[in-house]
Parts: sequence; C-alpha cells; structure tokens
Amino acid sequence: MSKRRYKRKKKQQLNKRKVGLAIIILLLIIIVILNNLNKRSNNYSAETINYNQPNKINKCIVIDAGHGGEEEPGCVFGNVYEKTICLQIAQKLKTLLEKEYSKVIMTRSNDINVYLNERARIANRNNADIFVSIHQNALENDTVTSGIETWYNPKKDTVSKLLAQNIQDQVISATNAEDLGIKESTGLIVITKTEMASCLVETGFLSSTIEKQKLISDSYQDKIAQGIYNGINAYFEQIENAEEVYNGNNV
Ligand SMILES: [Zn+2]
Repeated sequence: MSKRRYKRKKKQQLNKRKVGLAIIILLLIIIVILNNLNKRSNNYSAETINYNQPNKINKCIVIDAGHGGEEEPGCVFGNVYEKTICLQIAQKLKTLLEKEYSKVIMTRSNDINVYLNERARIANRNNADIFVSIHQNALENDTVTSGIETWYNPKKDTVSKLLAQNIQDQVISATNAEDLGIKESTGLIVITKTEMASCLVETGFLSSTIEKQKLISDSYQDKIAQGIYNGINAYFEQIENAEEVYNGNNV
C-alpha cells in the first residue's frame, strides 16, 4: 500500500468512527428526551386520572376536622377539646381511606382555624366526590345524653341523604352507640356551600360523662373512623349500582 492510499484509508476509517459516535450520541439524546417525556406524563396523570395508582378507586374525598386553632376550640370540657378529637378521628379516617381511594384531602391537618366558607371552597376547588365533616355534640346541664347523629342538607341534592344514612348506619354498627339518626339542616355552612354529597357527623356527646371517656380513647376513635370509612364505601357502592340500573334502563 502506498503512503497516500494508506493515509486516505486511515481518514476514511476516522470518518466512519466519527459518524458512528455521532449516531450513538444522537440515540442517547433521543433516549433521554423520551425518558423525560414519559416521566412528565406520569406526573401529570398522578394528579388527574391516577394511572400511577391502578389499584385505587378514582375518587376524591374531603375530610373536614371540625373547629381548630385558639379561637375555635369547639366544646371544651376540662382538658378535653372538641377540635382535638375531631382531628384525631379525621387523621385515622384519612389513613383508612388513602389505602382505597386515589385522593384524600383534609381541610386542616393541624391545630389551625379554617373559616367555614374556605372549608367548602377546598372541596369545591378539588371537585371532590364527597365531603365529610367530623364534630362532637354537647348539652348544657346534661351529663347523660349520648349518641351519634349525622346532618345533611335536604335542599341541596338527592345524594347527601344517602351519604348521611350510610355513614350513620355504619358508625352505629361499629361503635354500638345510641342511634340518634340522620337530621336535616339548611343552616350549616359546610354541608350547604359544598357542591357535592356532604354530611356532618356528630360522633358523640362530650357533655356525657361516659361518652366523653370513650371519645378520648384511641380504640373508640378507631371504631368511629372505621364506621365512617365503611359508610363511605357503602355509599359509593350504592351510587354505582344506581347508575348501572339507570344506564341499563336507557339502553
Ligand atoms: Zn362542633
């Protein structure tokens, strides 16, 4: 081989290597871009249709722990504050719901006051499927009356009553508390200004000597949370069955 031909061949080999290297770099760039696009679409769907949580039911539930902060303690009996028990039960309920449902939102997660209108706005902003508010009752000069009742607004929609009834039934069966039934109110802001099925559970009387002791105990709070959770599940099942019947009739 002449020196010139050798040089030319060497140059051709070098060019081939450069082209090869460029192709590899280009492929790497394409892989990185595709990877990023994939990540971005996964993040997006986590907030909307939850492809990231295929085993969870795609519903948004808002839990409202009643009262909160210095200025809104709710009923106070000695060192027992309604706002504290509401939050404890709400947190237990959240833990249960998060295993089953894709989106669970608390209107407050610590000891702060959130205005009633804002609590409703949180649910409306998030297009929640249901809103459940947790409270305790109290009576003046009465240390005996006890039991659980659930409030809903009959003027708002037809599904809130169903939610209230399911939660009431399941909380009673989980706790064996006195059943005070479901009750109607058009004056409670959180169950009126929310634009979805909503109810407010009075989980017992802090004025009752016996029920107060139960309400502060971890195991009784577990029962209440489990009851509300069972009621929510039963409600969604009923709604789904009703929709199937409705759709079937229209085919
Ligand atoms: Zn209250």
